[in-house]
Amino acid sequence: MHCPFCRHSDSRVIDSRTSDDGLSIRRRRQCPECGGRFSTIETASLNVIKRSGVIESFSREKVMSGVRKACQGRPVTEADLAMLAQAVEESVRQTGVSQIDTNEIGLAILGPLRELDEIAYLRFASVYQAFETLDDFDDAIALLRADHAERASRQDA
Ligand SMILES: [Zn+2]
Repeated sequence: MHCPFCRHSDSRVIDSRTSDDGLSIRRRRQCPECGGRFSTIETASLNVIKRSGVIESFSREKVMSGVRKACQGRPVTEADLAMLAQAVEESVRQTGVSQIDTNEIGLAILGPLRELDEIAYLRFASVYQAFETLDDFDDAIALLRADHAERASRQDA
């Protein structure tokens, strides 16, 4: 890491701190040559392989825009979408891989989206899992209803 002030090729780490979401490390550095101080942020790279084969870096904004369409007209805020995108990134990073395909991102979205809004979840799942008939919706809704019943019985107990 070159010093941004004098371009010296070395620097000393004087403080390291993990960000609140645990996904990056901020380091405070000092140049041994000129004494200048600066910060760097390190994030492990995470790449997405698109269906076309193109590789691009993971973007929370892309997760949000994909989910935003499914949330039209639903009581879902931008903050909800940001939290969902963060949850998706965390769950993907927890698997320890540095490269995933868009399909796996879709899978990682389904869980938190279901918690957020079931209608948006059904819309997203219908596109992502390529629902073809009303039966596909019936099956997905039956699963949601079964979960509701299970949760209700757990609350009664
Ligand atoms: Zn320097």
